[in-house]
Amino acid sequence: MTIITFDKTGEKVKLGDISEDPPKNVTREQAAEELAELGQEMFELQDLLWGARTHSVLIVLQGRDSAGKDGAIKHVAGYLNPRGVHVTSFGVPTEEEREHDFLWRIHYHAPRKGEFAIFNRSHYEDVLVVRVHDLVPKEMWGERYGHIRDFEELLTEHGTIVLKFFLHISKDEQKKRLLAREQDPRTAWKINAGDWEDRELWDEYTDAYEDAISRTATKHAPWLVVPADAKWYRNLVVARAVTEAMRPHKKTWQARLDQVGVKKKSELETYMRTKKNP
Ligand code: ATP
Repeated sequence: MTIITFDKTGEKVKLGDISEDPPKNVTREQAAEELAELGQEMFELQDLLWGARTHSVLIVLQGRDSAGKDGAIKHVAGYLNPRGVHVTSFGVPTEEEREHDFLWRIHYHAPRKGEFAIFNRSHYEDVLVVRVHDLVPKEMWGERYGHIRDFEELLTEHGTIVLKFFLHISKDEQKKRLLAREQDPRTAWKINAGDWEDRELWDEYTDAYEDAISRTATKHAPWLVVPADAKWYRNLVVARAVTEAMRPHKKTWQARLDQVGVKKKSELETYMRTKKNP
């Protein structure tokens, strides 16, 4: 099976070697069944995460136009309790944002303990669109890989589980999706000329993505290249990775909740003893 998880800096990623299609041995029906089970497990894990308040989860979604960032959010985050999920979309920086360092607007949206933050685009745009369109000098974006590694290390040291997904679609699939969007009056609003212009820079974006993944993949903040031509498989891979990243913490979270529960119980008992008619 093609390796889709990258967790070592410097490991060269070749997107051309990774299929955009689901593996032949997985059917849509199996995927739907597994996704429903993972959804239930994620929901239960989220409850522990929320109560224990020792960790948080950051999900970064990157991909070319129409790769399915919104779809993945809808189908995976849809299983979670919205109370603890914050979705942020990062577009072209505002004037105020441009007057700060590139991580300023990002850090503000990092998740609080107990919560999920989902980024639709992210700080990676600052080494993707910015690099491909030459928006800042090379010396400047070149420094950013190191800043990103340090930033993500800081988040993980603070208890954040960081997962980064590149939704990998083929050029043909993108064309189909863009045309379908354009032809349907109800979805045409999603398209703009820039999407077609960026498509002409397909290879430049491939280089930029390969570099970004290779240079910022770490044990604590891995990248997953998600075969994304089939939406049902894309959703399954994302949900599986999120669940698998949370599962090892389950016992710690439960122990923390037990601890808090015992303390609360004894506080309540003391309180009750002081009251004659509670
Ligand atoms: P999407 O394609 O993400 O679903 P959209 O096309 O509706 O969203 P917006 O959310 O308004 O557009 O903005 C996304 C655009 O902002 C993308 O073209 C992206 O490349 C650009 N962008 C994001 N971050 C930056 C950045 N740091 N510098 C320049 N452009 C950026």
